[in-house]
Amino acid sequence: MKIHEYQAKELFKQYGIAVPGGVATKSVNEAVKAAEEMKAKGSSLFVVKAQIHAGGRGKGRTKKNNAKGVILCKTIEEVREAAESLLGDTLVTIQTGEEGQEIKTIYVTDGVEIDREFYLGILLDREKSQNVIMASTEGGVEIEKVAEETPEKIVKVWVEPGMDLQPNQARRIAFALGLKGDAFKKAVKFIAALYKFYEEKDADMVEINPLVTTPDGDVLALDAKVTFDGNSIYRHKDIADLRDKSEENPIEVEASKFDLNYIKLDGNVGCMVNGAGLAMATMDIIKLSGGEPANFLDVGGGANVETVKNGFRIILEDPSVEAILINIFGGIVRCDRVANGIIEAIKDPEIAKKVEGVPIIVRLQGTNAEEAKVIIDNSDLNVISAVLLKEAAEQVSKVLAA
Ligand code: ADP
Ligand code: MG
Repeated sequence: MKIHEYQAKELFKQYGIAVPGGVATKSVNEAVKAAEEMKAKGSSLFVVKAQIHAGGRGKGRTKKNNAKGVILCKTIEEVREAAESLLGDTLVTIQTGEEGQEIKTIYVTDGVEIDREFYLGILLDREKSQNVIMASTEGGVEIEKVAEETPEKIVKVWVEPGMDLQPNQARRIAFALGLKGDAFKKAVKFIAALYKFYEEKDADMVEINPLVTTPDGDVLALDAKVTFDGNSIYRHKDIADLRDKSEENPIEVEASKFDLNYIKLDGNVGCMVNGAGLAMATMDIIKLSGGEPANFLDVGGGANVETVKNGFRIILEDPSVEAILINIFGGIVRCDRVANGIIEAIKDPEIAKKVEGVPIIVRLQGTNAEEAKVIIDNSDLNVISAVLLKEAAEQVSKVLAA
């Protein structure tokens, strides 16, 4: 589960992780008022930041006003202009895709004088089954880019699950970043507090890019990207309350109600599959056949009439779907039962209406696959059966060309 930068920074404060002061708001007037109050406390530089669930805001541009997603302001008037240009506009960054994300909230925050910029991240290293802390002197640059071009500039420290981060590990990171004196001590404290936050709140990724030092030797998080392990949210009510469904794809929100694992993609071929691995393979097959997957959808092991119906409902919500490929392996479920389930689902009046003109290719493999094929072939519906993945791919090409 993703949260906004301003929410992450509020949580950081609870852990003594240093961040600049700031106020999140949905209104231009409140943004101006916040800046005025900050000015009264001595601030002379303000930064107005679009709050969307995507990074790359500084280099992104809004559609209408061509504004940057992160705007430095020297005066209150500039804060007003920045707030006006961002609120309600749509920000496009490398992470949002072309359609961009509407800006509903902005964050007015203290402008910080930057001495040096760093990258600091914590995530799960699935290969090592350990948490890994990554840091680099290349602050402000995407870590993927640093990893590709100058991997020697990334320092990594692994932490055993069940053990705390050791003080010498935090020191090793601060030392590798070339920090000295006050900044070194503050960075060590910062890293320890951030790790504690990551562990206690069941985050699965924390990314501070940039982490900065100031000329006074302060160490601050200027940006904060945090995601939480969805399976642990039940034990953190405070985190659950931070969920902003308006930032999520509405079809994905709907699918999560049915316990379906659905991710919307940009293509034209909807797919319904049981098992994540098979779903990935099916998406590859769609690409090989000249189509583009419209979604990832794992209906889980059961694949009964209800899940198939819900799967259809979700896939057909997406207007770009021109064909549907169902690829189900009958290991736990028998294929003939799934075939009957598919037919029953398509006959449901609500689904029948939407599925009109959308060819469906069904590949059922496993127990009673032959009986299933007969059921599909004998139905008078717009359903085509395939036995091999290759045949399924060819059928997809054919219906897309028709
Ligand atoms: P994103 O990663 O989405 O582009 P950031 O929060 O990292 O957004 O902001 C982009 C850049 O703007 C940062 O790399 C930093 O140089 C600058 N910046 C962000 N917040 C501040 C701030 N409070 N004070 C000064 N500069 C900032
Ligand atoms: Mg950033």
